[in-house]
Formats: sequence, C-alpha cells, structure tokens
Amino acid sequence: MFEVSAEKAKLFDSLIRNSPETVIVAHLHPDGDALGSITAMSGFIRDCCGGNAVIILPDRIPSGLSFITDGFDILDGGSDRSKKMIAGADLIIALDVNSFRRTDILENDLRAAKGRKVLIDHHPDPDSDAFDLVFSRTDVSSACELLFQILCAMPGIDGDASKLPADCAFSLMTGMTTDTNNFANSVFPSTLDMASRLIAAGVDRDLIIERVYNSGREGKLRAWGYMLDRKLRIMDCGAAYMVLDRDTKDRFGLAEGETDGLVNIPLQIGKVRMSALITEEDGYFRISLRSKKPLSINALASDRFHGGGHPQASGGRILIPDDIPDRDAVCAWFEDAAARFMQKM
Ligand code: 5GP
Ligand code: MN
Repeated sequence: MFEVSAEKAKLFDSLIRNSPETVIVAHLHPDGDALGSITAMSGFIRDCCGGNAVIILPDRIPSGLSFITDGFDILDGGSDRSKKMIAGADLIIALDVNSFRRTDILENDLRAAKGRKVLIDHHPDPDSDAFDLVFSRTDVSSACELLFQILCAMPGIDGDASKLPADCAFSLMTGMTTDTNNFANSVFPSTLDMASRLIAAGVDRDLIIERVYNSGREGKLRAWGYMLDRKLRIMDCGAAYMVLDRDTKDRFGLAEGETDGLVNIPLQIGKVRMSALITEEDGYFRISLRSKKPLSINALASDRFHGGGHPQASGGRILIPDDIPDRDAVCAWFEDAAARFMQKM
C-alpha cells in the first residue's frame, strides 16, 4: 500500500500556508470525485490551515450531487471575477484532472497564471510539466482517495483520520464511493483502508448511499428503462451502445448527472465487453465508455473520440462536422470505431 511521504506533504502544507489567495479547480462535467475532492480540499484549507480557497468550476453542478457542495461558494468559470481570481492566485490546486485541458474554458487562464500550481490526480499521463508539485497515482480509486492519503500525511493530522474536519471526511468518502461505483470498480487495498478509517472516524456511509443512489426521480428511472428497452444495441463484436438524443432527454426531463451509471448496466450481459453511452449535446455528442477487465478502452477514447481516461472508464466526444456530417451519422461512426477496435483486441 502506498504512502505519501511526510516531506512532500510538508511542502504542500507550506505552499498552502504561504498563499493568501488559493484557487481550486476540477474538470468539465464535474462528478462526485471532482466535487468531493474540491470541497474536501477547500474545507481542509479553511479549517486546518486557517486559509481561504476559492473553488472555480467550468460547468454547472448536477443537482443530484449538489449536496456535496452545499455551504461552499463556487464561482462560475465564465465570469470576469473568476478570470481575475485565477490571474491573481498565489496557489492553484487542480483535482481529478491530468491536465488543464480537462478544465475547458478555464484552461488558457490557468496556463497563463503566475501562481504556484499543484496537481492531485489519478489519471494516466499527467501533464506534470505544467505543475510545480505533482501528486499523481493510478493505483488508487479516485482523486478523493489520493487526497485522503495526502491530508493524512499533513503536519497536524499525522495519520489520524479522525482529525480531519467532519465535512472534509464526508466529501472524501462520497467521491471515492461514486468513482468506485459503490466499491464495484477500481478498489485497491488502500481504498478499503481509507473507507475503514473514515467510517471509524464517524463518516455516515448510509447517508452517502441515500443521497447518491436512493434520492432520484421516478422519471429518471423510467428513462433508464426506456433507454435499455428501446435504445440499447449490442454488436457481434461485444460492444454495446445507446444513443441518448435530445428528444429522449426532453421527454423524461433528464437533467445533467441523471444518466451517470447508466453506461455500466449493459456490462451485466455476459457477451458484452464494452459499453458506450452517447449523449447528444449542442454541436457534438459526448461519449462515456466502460469495459470489463482485461479490455482497456482509454486508447479507443483518445484515438477515435478526442478523449481519454482510465483503462476501464473513459470518455470523449464525437464532433459535428469534424467527425460526422450530422447527428444521424453517429451510430455508423461509433459502430465503425468499435468494430475496428474490437477486431484488434
Ligand atoms: P464519464 O464516462 O463518467 O463521463 O467519464 C469517465 C472517465 O473518462 C472520467 O473519469 C475521465 O477520466 C474520462 N473522460 C471523460 N470525458 C473525457 C474527455 O473528454 N477527455 C478526457 N481526456 N477524458 C475524459
Ligand atoms: Mn476521478
């Protein structure tokens, strides 16, 4: 099991304490891990370092996950105030991204900023040159898990998870829970160690389960049923995919985040080795990819879908008109990419 060195944690601690203005950022389409890690980081800086950190996101927060950010001020990345904060920050901490590229509209301002930059992430291929201090590991479940290990190594915490502020601990457990799909994927010995220490420290796991998995709308579940019944296509090569078009989104009133997890369901079918959810957006389709071990799909995401990610959970885009002339061509485009990819596997 890995440990974050006390020396590196001390360096991070002194960077935080010597930075009056800190900005925290995460990726486009923030998920539980992104929101859990930024709020845990911000809460720690406030409660344990007496500092003040501003969270800036390039995107709106899905309503189903807003319980994680309740009580935190989150600045809209498109605002002038955000641009000024980034330019004037002494310290910038990027979480759950391997590169500023994943922060979308914030990217150029973050690259140009003069402040010190820290990366805390669990994706392959970190863009280490863009940062002054890098915490990057792929043998962890989530950015939240890596952050947990970092915070536990900080002076004053000394490995005792019960010294973490309660809302910080709750955020870390929530992000780890969502990124592992409730302990189904990417679970390492250090993941269970973290869970055990946080539950012992008093984190209410039942509340997390209630909020994340059992607080949805009826329309959401009916939309999932509709997608699985009417839209799921299974190819002979073992790839399954669903296209979620604008009409279906509108019909069920689907909100951002309400399809999180849907892409995993087709993997329940024995012959399916890879699953894709392709969602219509303005001028492009967003694609979520999942696979069963040992099949890795991050190369497919980067080679054919302008994206990337983890071996068994990746994503990207299909662009109109760069990739396909119009929306009707999306199935053929995906099927061609999937069939060629699976043939090589
Ligand atoms: P999701 O399917 O949940 O949206 O994304 C799964 C994983 O794929 C994310 O954790 C992230 O690692 C990766 N991912 C999703 N979209 C993109 C993208 O557009 N670019 C890159 N590089 N990675 C992505
Ligand atoms: Mn993550």
